[in-house]
Amino acid sequence: MIYVLKLANSLAIISREHEVETFYGVLGLLKLFLPDEHVKDIFKIKAEELKKRGIKGVITDLDNTLVEWDRPEATPELKKWFQEMKEQGIIITIVSNNNQERVKQFSDPIGVDYIYEARKPMGRAFRKALKDMKLKKEEIVVVGDQLLTDVLGGNRSGMHTILVVPVAQTDGFFTRINRKIERSILNYMRKKGMIYWEE
Ligand SMILES: [Mg+2]
Repeated sequence: MIYVLKLANSLAIISREHEVETFYGVLGLLKLFLPDEHVKDIFKIKAEELKKRGIKGVITDLDNTLVEWDRPEATPELKKWFQEMKEQGIIITIVSNNNQERVKQFSDPIGVDYIYEARKPMGRAFRKALKDMKLKKEEIVVVGDQLLTDVLGGNRSGMHTILVVPVAQTDGFFTRINRKIERSILNYMRKKGMIYWEE
């Protein structure tokens, strides 16, 4: 489980000269999978703090970011979180790779805009959300629990990315495959000293 993910402060682990070039090539790619921030859960993202930083919008994933992937409705705590965002004038769009039925059923009762079948990490849904929200990409944070979809997609779209620890320990079928790839990437970064873990 991810609690803290940090860029190591030293690349001194590279001992052999010929490794350096390959390493920096890979490093450039891997940077796309590194979130700008990482938090334990969505509730660590505070409306007041976002506002102070000039953030006016949140693009957030749904499954295992806001609630467990198999929970149909928002929890009372989450409804409060949405309310606090609203009070600070921060608008939210749920951008999910899941289907219309799931995303609509979750979003409609709480009155939040959404994009379903977003095909993250592709950039189209991010661009659409940005346009609908009438904001600049600098005014947005992208929140999600997956490196391969949420973080990669947000980074490629030039937005600030925040990784959250998945709400549930279980995943839907396609996410399970993504998690395997994600673990390989994280293991590689850890072995190369690009990131380290706490707790
Ligand atoms: Mg997710």
